Amino acid sequence: MANPNVQPKYNQLFINNEFVDAVSGKTFETLNPANHKVIAKVAEGDKADIDKAVVAAKKAFARDSEWRTMYPGSRGELMLKLCALMERDRNHLANLESLDNGKPYTEADLDVTYAQATLQYYSGWVDKVYGETINAGTGLNSVTRKEPVGVVGQIIPWNYPILMLAWKWGPALAAGCTIVMKPAEQTPLTALHLAALTKEAGFPAGVINVVPGFGPTAGAAISEHPEIKKVAFTGSVPIGRIIMEAAAKSNLKRVTLELGGKSPVVVCEDFDVDSAVDIAHDALFSNHGQSCCAGSRTYVHEKIYDQFVAKAAAKAKARKVGCPFAAETLQGPQIDDEMFNKVLGYIESGKQQGAKLECGGKRHGDTGYFIEPTVFSNVQDNMKIAQEEIFGPVQSIFKFTNLEEMIERANNTNYGLAAAIITNDLNKAMKFSDAVEAGSVWVNCYDAVIPQAPFGGYKQSGIGRELGKDGVLSYLETKTVTMKIQ
Ligand code: ADP
Repeated sequence: MANPNVQPKYNQLFINNEFVDAVSGKTFETLNPANHKVIAKVAEGDKADIDKAVVAAKKAFARDSEWRTMYPGSRGELMLKLCALMERDRNHLANLESLDNGKPYTEADLDVTYAQATLQYYSGWVDKVYGETINAGTGLNSVTRKEPVGVVGQIIPWNYPILMLAWKWGPALAAGCTIVMKPAEQTPLTALHLAALTKEAGFPAGVINVVPGFGPTAGAAISEHPEIKKVAFTGSVPIGRIIMEAAAKSNLKRVTLELGGKSPVVVCEDFDVDSAVDIAHDALFSNHGQSCCAGSRTYVHEKIYDQFVAKAAAKAKARKVGCPFAAETLQGPQIDDEMFNKVLGYIESGKQQGAKLECGGKRHGDTGYFIEPTVFSNVQDNMKIAQEEIFGPVQSIFKFTNLEEMIERANNTNYGLAAAIITNDLNKAMKFSDAVEAGSVWVNCYDAVIPQAPFGGYKQSGIGRELGKDGVLSYLETKTVTMKIQ
């Protein structure tokens, strides 16, 4: 049940299965984006705390440690126990997520479900990771072993705090790694609650450490750390670059990056217009547009363009914006003042560059970071709103004439996270799926992300894949052992 008065139980760093203050004694405030009020003061970790967490994680990863010598199935059982505890605390977790992030309670509740599904999926991988036997026919026999990379650093964003945590913890735990995680400074609370649940589930001390703090301090300490063997990051392209550079300069730690996007949704003329409007609407407005794979370029065939625009604007206008805890709310506030101002800035630039504002276009209400669901038509490929990631509730609708030209335009971006085509024509769907440069292609649906299938970006949308088998492989090293047959 939605409860806007939920209070966090934990506000310290979680290191070696204990909640502790930051070495510096510093704290920072986490705010409710719906009313700017302080929810809690949270311990602010930085380099000294990351160092402590790495010591704990290294100890937990020692060759003779409980974690390393555990029967693999028991690791899976711990993960399932964590899922069960999440179920017990579902209500608290969903409320806390909604309070700290601003997303509707019902969506936060769904995020708990998807996070559980991810952990459950990966709990099945613990004993299914193995290598190959390679016989070169030269009297040598080689086998490959898959081994956990070691201590991993994980830096996550604020848009799906619980879910991004599960995407990171699931494969790392399945692989047998130990973890130092930094949640986003805007949304540290649910990660701390989940950390407490790992202790209750019985994870050995040091396997999972959670250190809230800021990017340039705690985050940088992770990406620069000489003892961290891999860093997994989800966030923006500029920070991804910084992290990769730091990884290269320090110890060449492995890097996986899940970055931004400017994903096209191509609506063909053969599809039912109302259904297409619904798919394209959810593709953009879900999570207030704060999604790396948001369908932020809606391309509509000229034959249905005017109808589509009218219906899309009507749907956006009807989207209920308000208190995240109210049952009818579909859209809460943006995460913070920085993002709020950035999104409003993009809206201004759309107006100035000649896109046609169909609805929305300004702040909603006078407190909280709420923005009206906004639709622009007549958007041209060279406009700023067509090229840059807005990360807000702003739908840009373009017109197209033929699919060949459309594919060129879809690919004319440095991003390549996702793409969708909406059509009943199998040939168009196949041609588009074949030619589009994106890590996920959806046909007649959007955001259909499942734990079993890999997710990640082409081009500057990232490096590596999360979820699925690829996800767990990214936490493993391959060792080749070659024996001579005497
Ligand atoms: P967003 O635009 O989604 O906030 P960011 O890339 O700014 O994305 O932040 C995502 C995560 O990266 C957050 O946890 C943030 O604290 C962290 N971060 C920001 N700057 C750095 C940095 N210089 N080094 C490491 N992590 C960082």
